[in-house]
Amino acid sequence: MPEHLKKKPKIAVEETVIDLSKVQLKSSCIESSFELSDSIELKTCELLKRNGWVCTFCGKPGNIGNLDVLFGPYLVQVSDCINEKSRTFSVWMHRDCAIWTSSICLSNQTLCGLADALTTAANMACSLCTKLGATLQCSSRQCRDNYHFVCAKQRGCSFKIENFTMICPKHK
Ligand SMILES: [Zn+2]
Ligand SMILES: [Zn+2]
Ligand SMILES: [Zn+2]
Repeated sequence: MPEHLKKKPKIAVEETVIDLSKVQLKSSCIESSFELSDSIELKTCELLKRNGWVCTFCGKPGNIGNLDVLFGPYLVQVSDCINEKSRTFSVWMHRDCAIWTSSICLSNQTLCGLADALTTAANMACSLCTKLGATLQCSSRQCRDNYHFVCAKQRGCSFKIENFTMICPKHK
């Protein structure tokens, strides 16, 4: 794991603890998954439903361009008021799509904030490709631009590894 991944200066929420080293293992032999106590609404799950094995955020497969393998699946609970039976939503994601999402935090080998990130992503269209699932926001306060990781790269946004923030070309 790259060293910077371990240093995200955010406090981990105790209840959602995932061993990231296991995630890497699981990705290479897809047999089991990570069940999270986080829950999302049915609407969120419908908006982010993807076809095939792709990243839930950017909709792209693993190992293309400068994107790495897909991590997961993370099973998030779906709260469905009409249908009482519980169900889960499988989330796959690129490491970059996860670490540059401000509500997701990786600290001491744990990952948290996935449900929040999904809820945001389901309502956020990308300023470049216009598709849903954008989770990277320009760090300039007056800026309303949101991007997928790949789209932010394409647009020429700057990435600050010290605090995991991104700034668009207009606000550099
Ligand atoms: Zn992605
Ligand atoms: Zn995009
Ligand atoms: Zn901006």
